[in-house]
Amino acid sequence: MIRVVVTGAAGRMGREVVKAVSRTPGMEVVGAVDPGHPGQDVGLLAGIEALGVTVRGDLAEVLRTSKATVMVDFTTPGAAVANIKTALEYGVRPVVGTTGIAQRDVEEIKAICREKRLGGLIVPNFALGAVLMMHFAGIAARYFPDVEIIELHHPQKLDAPSGTALQTADIVARSRQEKGVGDRTEVEKLDGARGGNLEGVRIHSVRLPGLVAHQEVIFGGLGQTLTIRHDSTSRESFMPGVIMAIKKVMELEQLVYGLDRLIFG
Ligand code: NAP
Repeated sequence: MIRVVVTGAAGRMGREVVKAVSRTPGMEVVGAVDPGHPGQDVGLLAGIEALGVTVRGDLAEVLRTSKATVMVDFTTPGAAVANIKTALEYGVRPVVGTTGIAQRDVEEIKAICREKRLGGLIVPNFALGAVLMMHFAGIAARYFPDVEIIELHHPQKLDAPSGTALQTADIVARSRQEKGVGDRTEVEKLDGARGGNLEGVRIHSVRLPGLVAHQEVIFGGLGQTLTIRHDSTSRESFMPGVIMAIKKVMELEQLVYGLDRLIFG
């Protein structure tokens, strides 16, 4: 049995994780942390049967008492970094979906995992379709070096651009020959009109009600465009990836960033 503690258990993603883990043979929810909802049964909070696991506010206390082996974190960047460090102190493997974690924090966490020989996963997007979109974008960028990214999310999302857009831009920048962006003499009449710029890849962020998580990678060539688009229309789309990560992290002895490393090697 893989014993899972869910941090951010009362959040939109946390509740989906509680449902998915409790339905998966070979794993169980043994702890739940969310400072906003202490005292509630996490199963009832997730809209399923009572699991006999009460939501608590203090992760360290939950780790001390639950004999957890994996922590799944969907919180905020600041909370996630503190939670990961606490989990590693207790020998618990982190599987992290929280986006917006700074690169220097990822490096520090990598070093702790290496020192403790503990597996960990930080995954900006758990949807298989999104992982494939990034992979295909990397291939297309070899042939179409002119590319811009539009990511679209629900308005409660706290970070912009999305972790997926940043990862896609990084993959594109590493796949293609160095390339400028637009015309050198172009003038931005409104701040931000041309979006953010990561290594020459423009990223545009849209936030609207009705959206979940979507991204278009648009390539331009002579007389043609190629668009690769992925849509997560429900948060369930992330759950097969989360379940796969919980299983895989048990075999790792280091921190791995991105699900692509596990799928494509
Ligand atoms: P959400 O609904 O706001 O849930 C976050 C939850 O974490 C809230 O209940 C929050 O409580 C709680 N929290 C805050 N600090 C905490 C702490 N120290 N310990 C435990 N819980 C804490 O957000 P969401 O939509 O679930 O998204 C969460 C994160 O996942 C975001 O970074 C989002 O971008 C990311 N995400 C990733 C993927 C992926 O595939 N990797 C997919 C979707 C979303 P309060 O509300 O009381 O502060």
